[in-house]
Amino acid sequence: MNPSNQPISGNDLARFSGPNTFMRLPHAGDLSGLDVAILGIPLDIGTSCRSGTRFGPKQVRSESAMLRPYNLATGAAPFDSLQVADIGDLAINTFSLSKSLSIIKDSYDAILKHDVTPLAIGGDHSITLPILRAMARQHGPLALIHIDAHADVNDEMFGERETHGTVFRRAYEEELINPYKTYQIGLRGTGYGADDFTEAAAWGFQQFPAHELWHRSLAALGAGIRTDIGDAPVYLTYDIDSLDPAYAPGTGTPEIGGLTTPQAMELLRAFKGLNIVGADLVEVSPPYDTSGNTALTGANILFEILSVLPGVAYR
Ligand code: MN
Ligand code: MN
Repeated sequence: MNPSNQPISGNDLARFSGPNTFMRLPHAGDLSGLDVAILGIPLDIGTSCRSGTRFGPKQVRSESAMLRPYNLATGAAPFDSLQVADIGDLAINTFSLSKSLSIIKDSYDAILKHDVTPLAIGGDHSITLPILRAMARQHGPLALIHIDAHADVNDEMFGERETHGTVFRRAYEEELINPYKTYQIGLRGTGYGADDFTEAAAWGFQQFPAHELWHRSLAALGAGIRTDIGDAPVYLTYDIDSLDPAYAPGTGTPEIGGLTTPQAMELLRAFKGLNIVGADLVEVSPPYDTSGNTALTGANILFEILSVLPGVAYR
């Protein structure tokens, strides 16, 4: 296979120029023939504190112009073997969270009619619930790798059951995920009580709090998760606030004592061989990202995820 879609090279067109697609890949309106569809979900009305993630897709795409198509450390060359395009943003309703979540679900139902792996750029974490609703309809209950400072398992927030902090309780209740193959990595910070975390552990979620990961390589943890999941279809959701705010300050609910970027890369690289059927990168909030480094880091994390998708060629 020799996919035709390639990012525009920085040697052909200056990096500060060109289309604002992910890595300056071609834009596609038609999904047929695509292996991977990258899309933006510019939503921030599911967030509980600082907003701004509506600007995430645009800024992550902008910073992704720095990326080159070959992963020097791993040898992955995703565009050698996968046909990848940016399919643009979903037309969410910025005045209605519930309508926006329905739009996301319906859009994913349409996307998944094609044999394509969707990679979403959020958006706050509320986008992941309708994505999982569509993905589970396709695949059944999914294994879930959830990298985040927060477990996002509140029952409700201000009486609302669908917010960025309630996603994985709803996913558990609706049987969208297999709780025994759900892994939450990077949890930390202050809570309202011990059961903020322990309740989900009782459902079967496997939780790896950040303080147990400090000063450690995450390669072994990643390999253990890969073995534990086996061939099951897996959805990967990456909340940028899993990283320490030193690396990723531009986010809505930062927590100190988080993962380092090398730890995140070790973890993601260990997922090579998993049957990843979809992924997202959420909670990048450009108004709080004065250096642009959070969006740049988010773009790199998406490239690392792309690099471990099934079928990726290695040089
Ligand atoms: Mn989250
Ligand atoms: Mn979070």
